[in-house]
Amino acid sequence: MERLPLETLESQNYDVVIIGAGAVGCASARQLAGRGFKTLLIDRGDIGAGTSSRSSRMLYSGLGYLVAKYPLWQIPFHPHDMMQRLGYTAEVMRCRAELVQEMPHHLTKHTFFYPFRQADQYAPWLVNIGFKLVEGLGGWKVPLAYRRIDREAAEKNSALVAALDPQVKSVAVFEEYMYAWPERICVDTALDAEKRGATIRNYTEVIGINKITEHWNIQLRECAPEKHGLANVQAKIVINAAGPWVDFVPDAGGENQKRIIGIKGINVMVRLPEAFKGQGLEAFSRKGEPYYVFPWRDFHFIGP
Ligand SMILES: Cc1cc2nc3c(=O)[nH]c(=O)nc-3n(C[C@H](O)[C@H](O)[C@H](O)COP(=O)(O)OP(=O)(O)OC[C@H]3O[C@@H](n4cnc5c(N)ncnc54)[C@H](O)[C@@H]3O)c2cc1C
Repeated sequence: MERLPLETLESQNYDVVIIGAGAVGCASARQLAGRGFKTLLIDRGDIGAGTSSRSSRMLYSGLGYLVAKYPLWQIPFHPHDMMQRLGYTAEVMRCRAELVQEMPHHLTKHTFFYPFRQADQYAPWLVNIGFKLVEGLGGWKVPLAYRRIDREAAEKNSALVAALDPQVKSVAVFEEYMYAWPERICVDTALDAEKRGATIRNYTEVIGINKITEHWNIQLRECAPEKHGLANVQAKIVINAAGPWVDFVPDAGGENQKRIIGIKGINVMVRLPEAFKGQGLEAFSRKGEPYYVFPWRDFHFIGP
């Protein structure tokens, strides 16, 4: 496909300009174009090449979102927070079902184990309720197939369980999906947005935004190798979907309000014995945060 010079966009009027063609930007463009809005999706790099290509690739079912920062007995004193958590988990499960039904070819299904350890922060009965609640909130559309079994029974079918600490007396088994290539999902979504009428422009950076009466003026700069050019476009609405860079989009209107804060984390990739292939583990760390061993092709990666 011919790449037109950036200047061809000069003075074009859009209903919406979306900055960032990651998972959020591509999905927004698809939705908005489908609803008839004249949409421009911009990325300074390639589609899906930001955070969306660097995730742990799990189509997460949302157990961790149920975990509150306060003790269980305080739940009645935080009804709004708990309702939000339940609502969010239900939404996550709804989106999970939508993806499994719409894009099965982009997903791989894996068996995950949850080992029950004596010193665990969450009692087995609580974990049982948590998983069942997550399944119920999702309306059992794409079940987790959660069940708790004795270690002895589980070991017969899983070398991974057999290798766990002898203190683990029972495990839960459930099914999780992983994205084969999340960036590919972004590309497909962007192409679908284009089919619905959106204009997609990668290797184009937003270098300034300013408000002119009722409209926004957005300054664009060509970033493709050995290409140069500038253009201004106008839009009624600007969506800043720049992921971890939202605070760096020039004049994004944040009045020095920082939206992104950093947290430390690490994922370690290892090659485990062949018999462990395709199976994963989920547990909670001592800080009460979900912790995983993710299967990925011939490898596993371990992290939060
Ligand atoms: C370590 C890690 C593990 C994760 N694991 C999972 C997981 O297992 N499952 C899951 O569902 N989610 C996971 N996530 C979360 C998920 O990856 C993100 O929520 C998602 O990718 C965010 O997408 P985005 O579109 O907001 O951002 P991004 O994908 O980062 O997209 C932002 C885009 O904006 C562009 N951009 C920035 N500034 C400009 C500018 N000035 N002009 C033009 N373009 C610009 C960038 O080039 C980039 O492409 C994980 C995240 C991390 C960091």
